[in-house]
Amino acid sequence: PLVLGIETSCDETGVGIVHGTELLVDAVASSVEEHARFGGVVPEVASRAHLEAMVPTIERACREAGVALADLDGIAVTSGPGLAGALMVGVASAKALSLALGVPLYGVNHLASHVAVDIVEHGPLPEPTMALLVSGGHSSLLLVPDVTHDIRSLGASIDDAAGEAFDKVARVLGLPFPGGPHIDRAAQVGQITIDFPRGLTSGRDMERHRFDFSFSGLKTAVSRWVEQQQRDGRDLPVADVAASFQEAVVDVLTRKAVLACTEHDVAALQVGGGVAANSRLRAMAQERCEAAGIALRVPRPGLCTDNGAMVASLGAQMMLKARPVSALDLPADSSMPVTDVQSGLPVTV
Ligand code: ATP
Ligand code: MG
Ligand code: FE
Repeated sequence: PLVLGIETSCDETGVGIVHGTELLVDAVASSVEEHARFGGVVPEVASRAHLEAMVPTIERACREAGVALADLDGIAVTSGPGLAGALMVGVASAKALSLALGVPLYGVNHLASHVAVDIVEHGPLPEPTMALLVSGGHSSLLLVPDVTHDIRSLGASIDDAAGEAFDKVARVLGLPFPGGPHIDRAAQVGQITIDFPRGLTSGRDMERHRFDFSFSGLKTAVSRWVEQQQRDGRDLPVADVAASFQEAVVDVLTRKAVLACTEHDVAALQVGGGVAANSRLRAMAQERCEAAGIALRVPRPGLCTDNGAMVASLGAQMMLKARPVSALDLPADSSMPVTDVQSGLPVTV
């Protein structure tokens, strides 16, 4: 099926079109520059930017894919989780398209889409797949028997998400928002000289929080280290701190992800979400999966951060697997749990 997907959960207006498991176009308009001077995403600014970008981005996606709206077989949209006002722009647009074109509507979970995007890159997901979801708002280990309707959470961050930690540490180091890509770049010319803490990895913590993460202690440790340098009147070795911090995050993420695969006897690991664009995470995951005999799947960096193709990919899977269609009163659910793949009272086709 030919499916158009709309993503507006944060600051990217994403419109993607897929044909089954084939990606035709991924058009993204971002308002990130409008937020950068505030050091974080401003919800009202994001909603207005989505409103302005929505129709032009849909038009651009169709033009670049050589697809007419009338050719579409279905519409998929992020219905949560995310910023309420931002989500509403996407959901309202998707409902209008679905109604006008007379094609089914699928309101899908943004986090499940971060996993499902890998299908347009590497083909159908093995069932089950283990997913390490690492983004701006989430860090979770997910057992995924079927990405269209069965996702189970094995663990998650008990405080900051991995992306949040990257963004906060970047601020401490004087790097611009969003900090993840800047830390990645700085770390490439740095040395791992500082042994920062690996949260929830030893003794009792490991027993009680086997597949959970904690990054706020690490963030505090970096802040303290930086403050001490300043008190001592020394220059800040930004690249070395970035490399050492990044190593601590990536070590914990990959260690627990591989452990989850071996303990649950799952042969494939998918890594998704914005932090999956991180070059060190990609390299270490490759190394450790190879050593453990696990097949690793990580989409190209541009498909790890928010986009419309991920939503279209999950929508196409829903159509292929004949999942229920979402009703037209589908809500925008800002706190949609990762275990709810689809929202809106389902109706049978
Ligand atoms: P969620 O998916 O939980 O709703 P989100 O959609 O805001 O959150 P994403 O767009 O998936 O998050 O990811 C954004 C995050 O990814 C930011 O925190 C950003 O710093 C981080 N990020 C992007 N590129 C990199 C990179 N190369 N290295 C580390 N972090 C990165
Ligand atoms: Mg973003
Ligand atoms: Fe995201």
